[in-house]
Amino acid sequence: MLRRYKCTNNCKLPRRRKELIEENGIWRFDYLNFPYCPSCGEMMPKTYEAVKNFFAVYHLHPKLDRAEQLIYKSEFDAAARESFVVVETALRKKSGLDLHGVDLVNKALNYEVDKKSGQITKSPLIALNNLVTDSEKNEQEGVRFMLMGFFQGTRNIYQHNDVGHSLSGALPVIIQASYYLNLLDGHSITKHGKWIPHKIDYNDVYMNMPNPFDRLKLICTLRFRDLKYKYFSKKKTGTSENHNSEKNN
Ligand SMILES: [Zn+2]
Repeated sequence: MLRRYKCTNNCKLPRRRKELIEENGIWRFDYLNFPYCPSCGEMMPKTYEAVKNFFAVYHLHPKLDRAEQLIYKSEFDAAARESFVVVETALRKKSGLDLHGVDLVNKALNYEVDKKSGQITKSPLIALNNLVTDSEKNEQEGVRFMLMGFFQGTRNIYQHNDVGHSLSGALPVIIQASYYLNLLDGHSITKHGKWIPHKIDYNDVYMNMPNPFDRLKLICTLRFRDLKYKYFSKKKTGTSENHNSEKNN
């Protein structure tokens, strides 16, 4: 516990003494825990660990590796700026345009559609999906707006104000950037958002199941599932005749 109270830069910290602390409406005397070093602003070891664990679960886009490393170095502002650059570069590369920010997004993702027939008259330079269904068109349009906001709103705040020096300011930027990069890589939500049937080799599962009770349970589960499936597929495709015969049975 005491070891974690040390700043990695060996800053001189305020003496560790118990203070009056409130947590969820309960008061007690305890040691103050600083998430950041009060002297240099670096993450304290406990915060560092928590952030590292977070990124172990939330897989950032590989292009954001440098931004992630900057976060670990507590350079939050630089990490956010790096994320903007990575997204902008990806957009420029994919579209072949030599533009910046909002203009770039607009020209790269915009498309024209004939309102009467719904046919696309001018396809976008970067298509996130096939642009056939309504939700596909909505995705393209929505992400265009989001990216425009990302540059016009979020980035401008970073460029012109002194707000970006905290972890909670940089994290949403990096996560958004990762989301956009995945979309630009073709991982469209409408394309991949449906249920993908996953085939499991139950024979293999059975053979690797040492517990005999589990084996029995597996067989029962599969039998019951097959019966249920047969019943429902009959109901779906069956005509009124089938229903009658079921009743008679
Ligand atoms: Zn420090």
